[in-house]
Amino acid sequence: MKVVVDVEKCTGHARCNVSAPAFYELDNDGYNVIREREVAPGEEAAAREGAAACPERAITIIE
Ligand code: SF4
Repeated sequence: MKVVVDVEKCTGHARCNVSAPAFYELDNDGYNVIREREVAPGEEAAAREGAAACPERAITIIE
């Protein structure tokens, strides 16, 4: 499982980070710094919660 963030869609709402701060790291302007990241065992719920919280649907979960 991995997460892909579409930088063209990310508008810096930071809601992914609010939902799952241990998984979604932001830059100083509130944009998601992840471009592509493997989801380690135990991180699945955090990855999904952060993706669901993104109002821009910028985060895709690839199973
Ligand atoms: S919630 Fe979505 S738009 Fe906001 S920082 Fe996270 S990925 Fe970007």
